[in-house]
Parts: sequence; C-alpha cells; structure tokens
Amino acid sequence: MASVLPTEEGNVAVVVRVRPQNQQEREGSRHAVVQVIDDGMLVFDPEEPCLSGAFAGFRAHDAPRRKGKDLKFVFDRVFGESATQEEVFQHTTKEILDGVLNGYNCSVFAYGATGAGKTYTMLGSETSPGIMYLTMVELYKRIEARKEEKTCEVLISYQEVYNEQIHDLLEPKGPLAIREDPEKGVVVQGLSFHQPKSAEQLLEMLASGNKNRTQHPTDANATSSRSHAVFQIYVKQQDRVVGITQDLQVAKMSLIDLAGSERASTTNTKGERLREGANINRSLLALINVINALADAKSRKSHIPYRDSKLTRLLKDSLGGNCRTVMIAAISPSALAYEDTYNTLRYANRAK
Ligand code: ADP
Ligand code: MG
Repeated sequence: MASVLPTEEGNVAVVVRVRPQNQQEREGSRHAVVQVIDDGMLVFDPEEPCLSGAFAGFRAHDAPRRKGKDLKFVFDRVFGESATQEEVFQHTTKEILDGVLNGYNCSVFAYGATGAGKTYTMLGSETSPGIMYLTMVELYKRIEARKEEKTCEVLISYQEVYNEQIHDLLEPKGPLAIREDPEKGVVVQGLSFHQPKSAEQLLEMLASGNKNRTQHPTDANATSSRSHAVFQIYVKQQDRVVGITQDLQVAKMSLIDLAGSERASTTNTKGERLREGANINRSLLALINVINALADAKSRKSHIPYRDSKLTRLLKDSLGGNCRTVMIAAISPSALAYEDTYNTLRYANRAK
C-alpha cells in the first residue's frame, strides 16, 4: 500500500473509516449500506446486499430511496470496521509526524455526522486511545531517539470553536480572540499551554477537556457535539551545537474533532440550536472551500477564503503551503444513517 502522504503542496490525503454497527443496528432488520471492497475503495448502497460477514442482511422494504447503482468511492485509504486505532494512526498521522519534526505545520481532521466515530478516532477510549494520544507517544519516542543532536520542547493546547467563538477546554474562561502575528502565525490570546508529564497525564487532560466541550441533548443524540475540538501540539527544536546559537524551529500539529456534520432539520430547530447548526454548516463549508482553493493551482495566488469562518481563521497557518493535511471521514455502515453517510462521502470526495 502506497503512503497516504499528500505528495504535492496543497494536496489533502482523504481516508474513510467505517465504524462497526452497534447492537441496535445489528439487531434491527435493516441492511448495511456500505461495503468495503479493499483498502482503497468502498461501495455505497450496493446493488446486491452482501450475504456474508458483517454485511449480512437483506434490503428492507422500507429502505431509503437509492441514490443510484453501486456508487463506488475511491480514497487514499479505506478502513473497514475491524481496523484498529493503531492502524488508523499508522496510515494517517504517523507519517506526517516527520513533517512536524522538520518544522512544517500539519493538520488532521475527523469529519462526519454525530455517532459516526469522530471522537472515537481522535480521542478514543481509555482502553483504546485514539490518534491524539498515539501521536504524542510517537512524538516523544522520536524526540528521545535524537536527543543527542537536538533539544526539544513540546507544549499542548486544547480549544473548541463553538458558535464562532473560541474557548479554552483546559482552562475554561470567556471567549478568546485570534490575532495574526507576523512571526508566530495565528495566536489565540489567553490560550493556556501545558506540558503533560506522562502519556497518562495527557489522557486525563484530554478526557477532562472533552468534558468541557459544548454539547446539547438534541432529539437525535444526547451527546451530539456542536463544537469543533482543536488539539494542538507545538514542537520547539534547536540543534545541540556547543558555542553556536542555533535557530529555534517551531512547528504546530493540529488534530481536530469537527462538530457533527448532520443537517439540522429546520422544522424542529429553533433559536439557539438553529444558530448553532448554521454556524456548523458555515464552518464546514468554509473548510472545504479553503481546501479546494488551495488545491486549485490557479487560485493559489489569488484568494483563499480563510476569513469565512473562525475555524479556518484559526487554522490559517496549518492549511496550505508546506502544511500536510489529512481528512478522516467517519461513517456508520447502517441504513439508519443513509443520508448522513452519503453526504459525508460526497464531502470527503470533494476534499480529494
Ligand atoms: P462521533 O464523535 O462522531 O459523534 P463517536 O466517536 O462518539 O461518534 O462514536 C459513537 C459510538 O460508536 C461510541 O459509542 C463509540 O465508542 C462507538 N464507536 C465509534 N467508532 C468505533 C470503532 N471504530 N470501533 C468501536 N466502536 C466505535
Ligand atoms: Mg464526538
């Protein structure tokens, strides 16, 4: 399998992760609508319901309207439901760590509807920690291996973008302002930085930060995340050469658990919920517009619409240029999530 590393500037690696069906979905009589063909291809709403393994089942009479025959999607990588956290980390994030250690910013996004597996992929559980944790462990390992040549300092921050406002998840306080610094890049004023002493302490910080995320019980899901959670790792390095002052190299890695991408139904949604939904759609649209503008060689010299949302403003120095970007689209294979899965696949397809 080829590397998923974006090869050209502005290119984004796009992968899809299909989560296992939960008990309710398995017990229901409805079929799965996603069939993984190989590690680079899947079929959405296959013509022939698969009769073996995890995709066993028959098309229910009340199956939603079909979008067409065997919609094939090709991505840089497709992870089926048996993929482990380690495998997903290995093929999405581990490789771009080299870029960070060479001084380039990079970003990894988890996109998808509520319940599709974004937080599981990024944060994970105590027994199977996700990309955020595995990244830190690998980073410490690499720094340790070259400590004779370089001094290295690692700091982390964890913030959320909710309703176009930035909040610190590790030291919650009022909304924070963004400033652009000619040398430091994007700076969030008043954001707290931390140096976890161990991997365990990092896990505790992430878990407690996650509890501070803005969530609201909605009709669909009691813990749907209405905010984008942005975990950032800052790596400061300097060569160890006696007697000579070396340049300080700073790079930033951003790992982002995006807000649920499902469309808010406008009939049941009023006031605050409606505004939240509008802001989520706006920032997810702004994100894909920035990615597309960066990928389009002609527009690279012209306008990149970073200013269209808080999220893209915050990540301005982590998208494009020499930055490497990975988009992980999380989907459920269940027919219950038919529309959400279809919309997520189309969004991911646009990011390619
Ligand atoms: P999201 O953050 O996209 O709303 P979650 O990550 O919270 O979704 O996932 C929804 C549920 O599915 C959680 O209970 C989670 O533990 C479970 N889940 C998601 N992905 C996987 C996976 N790959 N393997 C096992 N369980 C998963
Ligand atoms: Mg979540």
